[in-house]
Amino acid sequence: MRAVGTCGQLSESGYDFIDDAYLSSLLEGPADSVQVREIVAKSRAKEALSVEETAVLLRATDPAVLEEVFETARQLKEEVYGNRIVLFAPLYIGSFCVNDCVYCGFRRSNPRAVRATLSPEEIEAEVKSLLSRGHKRLILVFGEHPRYTPEFIAECVRTVYSCQFGYSRIRRVNINAAPLDHEGFRVVKSAGIGTYQIFHETYHHGTYQEVHPAGTRKAHYLWRLDAPARAIEAGADDVGIGVLFGLYDWRFEVLGLVAHARHLLRHYGIGPHTISFPRLRPACGVDYRSPYRVSNEEFKRLVAILRLAVPYTGLILTAREPAELRRELLGFGVSQIDAGSRIELGGYTSASAEQQLEREQFHLGDLRSLEEVIYELLCHGYIPSFCTACYRSGRTGQQFMEFAVPGFIRNFCTPNALLTLMEYLVDFASEPTRQLGKERIAEELAKLPESGRKRRLVERLAAIEYEGQRDVYF
Ligand code: SAM
Ligand code: SF4
Repeated sequence: MRAVGTCGQLSESGYDFIDDAYLSSLLEGPADSVQVREIVAKSRAKEALSVEETAVLLRATDPAVLEEVFETARQLKEEVYGNRIVLFAPLYIGSFCVNDCVYCGFRRSNPRAVRATLSPEEIEAEVKSLLSRGHKRLILVFGEHPRYTPEFIAECVRTVYSCQFGYSRIRRVNINAAPLDHEGFRVVKSAGIGTYQIFHETYHHGTYQEVHPAGTRKAHYLWRLDAPARAIEAGADDVGIGVLFGLYDWRFEVLGLVAHARHLLRHYGIGPHTISFPRLRPACGVDYRSPYRVSNEEFKRLVAILRLAVPYTGLILTAREPAELRRELLGFGVSQIDAGSRIELGGYTSASAEQQLEREQFHLGDLRSLEEVIYELLCHGYIPSFCTACYRSGRTGQQFMEFAVPGFIRNFCTPNALLTLMEYLVDFASEPTRQLGKERIAEELAKLPESGRKRRLVERLAAIEYEGQRDVYF
């Protein structure tokens, strides 16, 4: 029997599994270096960590031990994800919101917020602009408002998929939206969404209540905590979770994320597809001062520890962070980043190069164009990827977890990354980026062992480059 929460029926696994006192107790005192090393060794074998084991890593402060954590994060990233970095862009659809989250520029009591919802024509114009720069993967972002019904969200998703620019279409549309009920999730799933993403913001109950005022929909902790589970029960292929770092003790929040991931794994046999770790940014009309700001050093530790705790979960780093820090964090296990992002409503078609602060939810830290980011990734030995093959071949959820084993990257991820990179280079890149990209592709091909798969890859790359073929994948 499903329990009924304050906003509707909960999932089969719908109970509050976050025990603040227990999680806090795990974080007391210094860590024993021997124990830390044992846990690091377990991570090296790509075993997911328990909440208790993660807590030991979070208590470590010895610089030598921390260096081992960073090194293991680098190794895991390389072994599980290779040197690909998947690229996407956010598309903000609507800034109306009934909630009053104290940290957010869209909150209802913010008089300085400019409210807008993109019309289908405006969505089309934004998507064409994104397609013209080379994007293939988008995440649509919504405030929480009665006008943003599941049917409305589904219609937006369909509009995005229907847009075309030359040969290009958006191949994966993810959404970040307020918690829905089972039926709502079924409606958005029917439009072909990729990942349903929702951040719990803070797992700490006291802080959650402070930053989400009573009487608002978002004040219902359990309704939100349970949203990914309901999405899975309603048939979502992938769910993404996250925390807004800077609202409470970052170490507690990492434990919350791991507890959430393990809860989903235990009940549904799949963990979250991705974890995001946005850090609090200044926003127009927001005067929230948190005592829990996360320093860059702490931020690096939290990314590395997450990499060790959930080796097979994608980690998303957004353009909230400045370019230099993004550069450094990529090595610690980040698998996806956004690039060329504009988060003002209509930002991709507006002429302004400056951020229009009243029209966005918070200020971005990295305003580089998609091509600038791609050029830099290539310079640093990464393969920028727009791959959407797993999702479109049904390798999602449980199946994706089974595929995420050695050999998978060589057979699927790297070839598909190279194919999508070649498309980008031929269709969108300037000459210097094209040259550099082709050199990177040749280097990657040289690393692949001779096989039938490699021969087919070489043929497909040539078909893209010389015969105008597009959207080929393994
Ligand atoms: N309204 C939906 C919700 O709250 O779930 C959609 C999410 S909101 C448009 C996207 C995410 O942005 C939030 O979940 C929050 O984590 C993040 N966010 C809000 N204010 C922020 C700020 N000042 N700095 C950084 N991230 C912020
Ligand atoms: Fe609304 Fe989401 Fe902003 Fe909260 S975080 S005010 S729910 S848009």
